[in-house]
Amino acid sequence: MSLIYPIHRSKKRRSVAIKVRDGEVQVHAPWALAEAKIQQFVASKEAWIQKHLQRQQQQLAGVQSRNWQAGERLRWLGQPLTLQVRTATRKSCCCKDNTLIATVTKRSNPKKEPKSIVRGWYQQQAKQWLDVFFSDWPRNHPLQPKSWEVGSFSSKWGHCSREGELKFSWKLWLAPEWVVRNVVIHELCHLAEFNHSAKFWQWVARYSDDYQAAERWLRQHGVTVLNEAYLDYADD
Ligand SMILES: [Zn+2]
Repeated sequence: MSLIYPIHRSKKRRSVAIKVRDGEVQVHAPWALAEAKIQQFVASKEAWIQKHLQRQQQQLAGVQSRNWQAGERLRWLGQPLTLQVRTATRKSCCCKDNTLIATVTKRSNPKKEPKSIVRGWYQQQAKQWLDVFFSDWPRNHPLQPKSWEVGSFSSKWGHCSREGELKFSWKLWLAPEWVVRNVVIHELCHLAEFNHSAKFWQWVARYSDDYQAAERWLRQHGVTVLNEAYLDYADD
């Protein structure tokens, strides 16, 4: 099978990089590199590309794309929630008996408003989840974050700054709770080791028995959970 892919050239780039994202291949290359050389490089990586393409396409096919219509499924800590959209004079969002009710205003954009309301709800709930997590965290623990917040990332679950500030994507809380816990522990361990060295993973193993399964889960489902067109995953 021959691959079709766009080539993004850059004057800053020194080597060729291949990215497989959302079931598509993208190639990044230095400004002046001959196309034949790029093709040769891509051909040498074809088995790797096909493996990732197939996996991503399978995952994308198992999940419906999102239109923010009533009846769609969302998840909170892995549990399914059904989206309901109502209209009133004020925006709000609440969760009752596995139904997430997003109330939009008459003047709102029906495509955009439910999404921003739901995202606001996730950010608020996720922040509360973190507050509870850290209120249980021992005060004499060697890993102490300076602060924690919930934001939005397009391609990662969490981040730890050199100053000890932790930030997580609201999309993480679509995942099962054991996975969320593992991401928080992962970022906390960066307070001790600011890299992914063997030493770092020793810290992680000290506080988690199932981090390898969590890493697998995140790799497997990141394609659809982090992608705003889906924000969901197929049940295993
Ligand atoms: Zn990390």
